Amino acid sequence: MKKILGIILAVSMLFGMTATAEGVTAQGTAISPIGGEVVVEVTADANTIYDVKVISHNETPSIGGPAAESVPADMVEYNTLAVDDVTNATLTSVAIREAAKNALIEAGIDPTPFEVKKEQAGDTERTAEELSCDVLIIGAGGAGLTAAVKAAQEGANVIVLEQMAFVGGNTLKATGGMNAASTHLQAAAGITDSTVETFIEDTMNGGHQKNDLALVTTMAENSAEAIAWLEEIGAPLPKIAPTGGTTHKYLHEPEDGSAVGNFLVEKMMAVCDQLNIKPMTNTEATELLVEDGKVVGAVAHDKKHDYTIRAGAVIVATGGFGANFDLMCSYDPSLNGAVTTNHSGADGDGIILATAIGADTVDMDQIQLHPTVHQETSMLITESLRSAGAILINADGVRFTNDMSTRDAVSQAELKQPGSFAWIIFDQRIVDHQKSTAKYINGGLTVTADTYEGLAEQMGVDPAAFAASMEKWNAAVAAGVDEEFGRNNGIDEDLSQAPYYAIKVSPGIHHTMGGLKIDTDTHVINTEGSIIDGLFAAGEVTGGVHGGNRIGGNAVCDIVVFGRIAGTNAAAYALGK
Ligand code: ADP
Repeated sequence: MKKILGIILAVSMLFGMTATAEGVTAQGTAISPIGGEVVVEVTADANTIYDVKVISHNETPSIGGPAAESVPADMVEYNTLAVDDVTNATLTSVAIREAAKNALIEAGIDPTPFEVKKEQAGDTERTAEELSCDVLIIGAGGAGLTAAVKAAQEGANVIVLEQMAFVGGNTLKATGGMNAASTHLQAAAGITDSTVETFIEDTMNGGHQKNDLALVTTMAENSAEAIAWLEEIGAPLPKIAPTGGTTHKYLHEPEDGSAVGNFLVEKMMAVCDQLNIKPMTNTEATELLVEDGKVVGAVAHDKKHDYTIRAGAVIVATGGFGANFDLMCSYDPSLNGAVTTNHSGADGDGIILATAIGADTVDMDQIQLHPTVHQETSMLITESLRSAGAILINADGVRFTNDMSTRDAVSQAELKQPGSFAWIIFDQRIVDHQKSTAKYINGGLTVTADTYEGLAEQMGVDPAAFAASMEKWNAAVAAGVDEEFGRNNGIDEDLSQAPYYAIKVSPGIHHTMGGLKIDTDTHVINTEGSIIDGLFAAGEVTGGVHGGNRIGGNAVCDIVVFGRIAGTNAAAYALGK
């Protein structure tokens, strides 16, 4: 992290300044390696910061937005530049601080007195507050937001809690698409072989038959309706593609090839807005309230309040535990020190809260490594690149596996290569069709060249061996058969459109398949095998859907299908229907 922060270039620019009765106003800039240029305007005098505004930034709205609001507001409230970072928006927070400092310098004000850390709320006493609702949802990722919209559509009044400064959770990092079977979109595209039955079979095979068949069946049977519902609420996923480890094309992506997670979160937030649902960010649930064996609410807090929230039903949608190394390593010590693609809010809270009141868990030791993670930035390189035709090459410049096999198989193959890494290779055609590649290129993750030999040199692999591998792959695509490794999807287009790109990748912790035990109605089940009244769960916090290995595209299917079921059933329970 230090290395990345070091890249932040403070750039002071001459924007001019104005003097008012309340200090001097000036602008400054800084460059964040992820979000690009950040421009901040500050009004201050030697003793007081009166106003701070982020004039522009290029970070995604869902992540940069909260930092652009909360960092300036804290600077004014606590009269200091030394305010807390917004979790998971650290680079944007740092760039905003740098730009504000440059603005002070531009205004002719010495920034040194403002670089002292002041006590911030959260270090002080909180006041007690009571709230109530029909359905309380803990966690505003994909499952929580889906459940919130659905519960509100069913007539429930909803409160959503989110511990982070922004909504979206790990869902924001979902770059591929959503698997579904027998959808109207597949039918329109003439794809008739991706049936509910094949989807169940592929999911069970992908999960090494460890999955809960009833949950998988529910997911597959409801997937087409979920796609139609997304379209109804303004989040269509019309582009259809294959995904690793499946025999048919189930993946549904946004039209323009943009990352599915951010797309869905932004669309769902727009619907939440229409339904007057305003997730309470920076608010962490710490305990479930139980009366007479029924869950009746939760205890939560933000920086200034201790909330007691009474609810007709509670949905736990807190995501997985891929950022909680203590919990993961208690099940699989070999993961100690591995890179994780998870945001820091994937801390397993929901599992801890629900097991404290007797909930059962399943498959907690099933933790997925994703094969294409850029280690320095922990950034996941989307599987959609391989669906679109990208391949994996090892340090000797040769392919080593069926690159479209299941994630666990590809990860294991990669770990056996020299140096335990691979290069993912793609071309300009893929860049033109996959919007998500922009962040890899702009973020400096790629090496690039106009020829195979030139790319090999950048990668530090033997140019002749690499060029031969590329020609061999292009010939396999032309023949439609990968005789070497039997890859049978993502083999429609070759890699012949220069310039060529490569990103160095290794496996990283990605998905925690295990979690709370639920039934097909999303009731949480206790250790005695009975339903816990009033408690529902959906999304990565639950276990059983993915078994021993999750197929790419099934996380989004899981959160939308089970988020909808949880929203419907929790609303019905709370409203006594
Ligand atoms: P899913 O894909 O299952 O929806 P996500 O990771 O996308 O999971 O979203 C889960 C969300 O729940 C995250 O934004 C995370 O910060 C939030 N969360 C986790 N624990 C708590 C908690 N104790 N209180 C409030 N929000 C929480």
